[in-house]
Amino acid sequence: MLFKFLILLCAMIFLAFTKVDGSDDKIEPFEINKISESLYVIADKDYGTNIGVLIGDNGIILIDPMPGEGRFKDLNALIKKMSDQPIKYVINTHGDEDHTGGNDFFKKRGAKIVSGAILESERKTDEITLSTSIKSELINSGLEFAQVKSHSFEDLLIYHRESNALFVGDVFDNSWHPTFYAGGLIGLNGSINKIMSFSNESSNIVPGHGKTTNKHVVDAFRKNTVAWVRRVSDLHKTQLSVDEIMNDKQINALLQLFNTEKKANFIPKKAFRRFIERTITIVVAEQ
Ligand SMILES: [Zn+2]
Repeated sequence: MLFKFLILLCAMIFLAFTKVDGSDDKIEPFEINKISESLYVIADKDYGTNIGVLIGDNGIILIDPMPGEGRFKDLNALIKKMSDQPIKYVINTHGDEDHTGGNDFFKKRGAKIVSGAILESERKTDEITLSTSIKSELINSGLEFAQVKSHSFEDLLIYHRESNALFVGDVFDNSWHPTFYAGGLIGLNGSINKIMSFSNESSNIVPGHGKTTNKHVVDAFRKNTVAWVRRVSDLHKTQLSVDEIMNDKQINALLQLFNTEKKANFIPKKAFRRFIERTITIVVAEQ
């Protein structure tokens, strides 16, 4: 009886703490990074997606507005504090949910959604007119674009001249291992060459996730990725299984090079395994 009571008591204490930590009405602060007088990068703990807020003369342009599920109103309120201009455009670096999740929310409030596909669209007359006028308006707001293929088939690099800031989406993730699965090593190299062509010593490179950094960190990321692919390829050629590759000392050391935030447990085992499996797929496809 006493044993049952103790179990019940433990369960109640656990639930009480879960409630406090998981409570919906508790608003976590956003991390705000002011890049220039007109550009802010906002991220939160949930997804850690870097959201660009570009405040122009005639409206605000948002990049990758995914603050975390259920936090759109909080993001909107935060932006309203920065400027009373309307949110005119939303641009996505690519189509993944953790970068586009807020599109509908802002579309309902009057924003136009601009994707890489629209910028490059040549299909319908209407779309061409729309894309041409939008594109020239965006270029007039000081933006430049480049379409590359690395993390996805349509990765958009977005450069803001005045802030010397380049949004690179998940072509470069500064908090996770590389995910160059659409373009392989060839696509990654081409994309990073493009990033370099926009950058100088003082450029702000805004990754899809993780801290804003400089071009040297991106170049190191490329070198580390090449070294990673080479090692996986060598081990795969010697018929090692994925489990055996996971136990390789050099592979573990290479993986840690991507752990820029020095987390004690960088990535779950499942993600580590998948990273190796997907790298093997790329190695096989590119040989
Ligand atoms: Zn992402």
